[in-house]
Amino acid sequence: MSLLLDIQHVTKRFASPVTLGDRLAGIVRGRPARRLVHAVNDVSLTMPRGEVLGLVGESGCGKSTLGRVIAGIYEPTTGEVLFDGAPVMRGGRKRTPRVQMIHQDPFASLDPRMKVAETVGEGPIAHGIVPRAGSDDYVAGMLDRVGLNPALRNRFPHQFSGGQRQRVAIARALAMKPDLLVLDEPVASLDVSIQAQVLNLFLDLRRDLGLTGVFISHDLGVVRHVSDRVAIMYLGRVVELAPTPLIYAAPAHPYTRALLDSVPRIGQGRGVFRPIRGEIPSPLAPPPGCHFHPRCPHAGPRCRAEVPLLKPVVPGQAAACHLHDGGVGLGVAGALAAEQRPAA
Ligand code: SF4
Repeated sequence: MSLLLDIQHVTKRFASPVTLGDRLAGIVRGRPARRLVHAVNDVSLTMPRGEVLGLVGESGCGKSTLGRVIAGIYEPTTGEVLFDGAPVMRGGRKRTPRVQMIHQDPFASLDPRMKVAETVGEGPIAHGIVPRAGSDDYVAGMLDRVGLNPALRNRFPHQFSGGQRQRVAIARALAMKPDLLVLDEPVASLDVSIQAQVLNLFLDLRRDLGLTGVFISHDLGVVRHVSDRVAIMYLGRVVELAPTPLIYAAPAHPYTRALLDSVPRIGQGRGVFRPIRGEIPSPLAPPPGCHFHPRCPHAGPRCRAEVPLLKPVVPGQAAACHLHDGGVGLGVAGALAAEQRPAA
């Protein structure tokens, strides 16, 4: 399969409001106060055409920010995102309509003053995908494609249910004839009964249109059903990347294992549900070395000083953990394998 997406050493930082305490500290230090949110930190990965990659992590891990960088909504602070060999953004402007994003809350992402026909039709007209005269039929076809009655195209977003609004958002993205969809928690705001319908719609579209997708979620169960590979993010970094079956059967990073163990599973008896200890540190001041070391049961002195690189563990699976080179004195066999969890 040919390469469609090439993310090269992408870092994204945001300036955060400076507090009075920061200003006073700046005066004491003799330099202006500055607070930076380290949202995404030196992420590199590639995606072949036709793949769906799950991007998973706790709230605040940087997955949505990375999704927006991929979709050309945010410009990377450093690094570059190449789509089909060309930068997605240049000079602060998105350069291709072939990458589209679907957001978590369709009510917030749809203009409440625009009828669905305008919402779905305006982008294709602006980009010359369809002439204005043919827009009505084009929009009707898109609505039909996502399972909505085309007769509803003159309604406003508030006249639809949550699941229907997300279908409108998907129709708007599809109308741009994308090759890559970035879906940011696309079912998180929907009722459980509706989530399966929207996920099945995505799987149908993927099969029929050959779409490539980045599926962002905190829910490992959802990602398992839609992704070919999974990237686990922690505090701005990708800490594990592997084919979906492998990451669930044999996680290679302590954080992945902790994430899997923190998911309650029916029928596994008492004591299986183990929440991750501690809280994710502030991205304003990430811990040195391995960002996960304050919460990791295997942390050693090297973990507090040296950033672990994302390195192959077995063919197709990579992890960023010193355990894999015996660097914390335990060795991976003595740590991860010893606490091998039963397959879910
Ligand atoms: Fe834990 Fe050290 Fe591995 Fe980080 S590098 S996950 S602290 S063992």
